Amino acid sequence: MRLSGWMCAAVACAFVAVWSAPANADPLADPLVGAPGLGDPYYPLDGNGGYDVQHYDVGIDYDPPSRRLTGTTEISATATQALRRFNLDFAGPAVRMVSVNHLPAAFDRNGEHELTVTPTLPLLPGLPFVVTVDYAGPAVDAGGEGWTFAPSGGAFVAGEPHSATSWYPLNDTPLDKATFELHATVPAEWEVVSNGLPTENVLRGDKRVVGWATTKPVLGYLTTVAIDKFDYLEQRRANGTPLVSAFAPNAKSHHRETEQRLPEILDFTENLYGPYPFEASGGIYLDADIEYSLETQTRPLYAPKTNLQTVVHEIAHQWWGNWVSVRHWSDICLNECFASYTADYLWPERMEGKNVDDDYRETIRKYRDSAKFWAIPLENPGAGKEFTSVYYRGPLFLHALRKQIGDAVFFVAVRDFLAAHTYGNASMPEFRAFMQSRSATNLTGFFDAWLDRTEPPPEEYLFPSSPAAPGL
Ligand SMILES: [Zn+2]
Repeated sequence: MRLSGWMCAAVACAFVAVWSAPANADPLADPLVGAPGLGDPYYPLDGNGGYDVQHYDVGIDYDPPSRRLTGTTEISATATQALRRFNLDFAGPAVRMVSVNHLPAAFDRNGEHELTVTPTLPLLPGLPFVVTVDYAGPAVDAGGEGWTFAPSGGAFVAGEPHSATSWYPLNDTPLDKATFELHATVPAEWEVVSNGLPTENVLRGDKRVVGWATTKPVLGYLTTVAIDKFDYLEQRRANGTPLVSAFAPNAKSHHRETEQRLPEILDFTENLYGPYPFEASGGIYLDADIEYSLETQTRPLYAPKTNLQTVVHEIAHQWWGNWVSVRHWSDICLNECFASYTADYLWPERMEGKNVDDDYRETIRKYRDSAKFWAIPLENPGAGKEFTSVYYRGPLFLHALRKQIGDAVFFVAVRDFLAAHTYGNASMPEFRAFMQSRSATNLTGFFDAWLDRTEPPPEEYLFPSSPAAPGL
């Protein structure tokens, strides 16, 4: 995610945490009932216990004038424990029917986003099962956490960490990645864009049926659907990877010029972090009142204020956030510190010949005495504060770390760290330990000063020097 403004936009700060003990830690919990949450420190009721999803097949019919949404989502999963009852996360329209393994199942909606399902026959551990959920009703403006409506009459889904629950039921946690396919039916004059590769786009009477699918696993908030009267830009990377970009009516013409640089941006990022991990790329340029852009997998959503730096940021997220995802939301610096450092420091340095050491020194000079600038820690910033300091202090932390351990160690280590967690999850404590394992210098004080404290790091960590690189 990248905010159009410098500080946290209201919409991104509005996430409210429900504090309680981890839901799966209750000693009195029924062992045959899947936990309603996975105990994320910020969002304990996100995700559900007892199963692992392999694939989502989402079918929707959407009518832009009435905003009516009809959906049938089929979830293919494997039980990880015996289950007589389990939960999905869903905050969308009224549920009409749920079936498990094609037998009708009882269901109940409760809490902010829980859909509790009781199958006719209990599920056995280790065995696959299929849940089908039918729902219908109005798509509702979710205040930045789901459906958002465009002046053209179009609509799209955006939000981090939550948004997917507004349009399909899922296991909404960073810890359960699954492949995803969408089949969307809209009136014939509308287009539909989503993640991965297009699978169909056909007219049937006065309707258009559009399909998209990912071949690589994806998280809920990284899926999207965008419905508008899009123009397309189709490109290919030198290696053949298809790039499909979409522009809403009234999208600015300079956005097309920026997007034409996508092959170059992918090459640049790949040189830093390893081969591009997905089957396709592109972008979705929105015309709507939205204050942030979002790294939806393979095809980011771009706000009207997008510039080249935004695109580099969202493309860097394809490695930092999408390929390798946070374990908990307190690990958000892994996503945003790296995406911001890539766009704000590495691109200007390597592609535009800028002396970013000067930028670093100037920024430190300017904000060293600002209590507000250091007030929110980079690691574990707190629920609702995930999208704050990681943008403006994250790049400084990584630039200082690079100077602390030297370019040769830094760039190889971050690449190897990603490779060690492909299509999986990683945490900030794991990042600290991994970087320490590659450096002869004791980094404990450095990490503590930059990541845990709410005051400027001491001089030795603000302006470190390493054997491989002269001090800043
Ligand atoms: Zn971001």
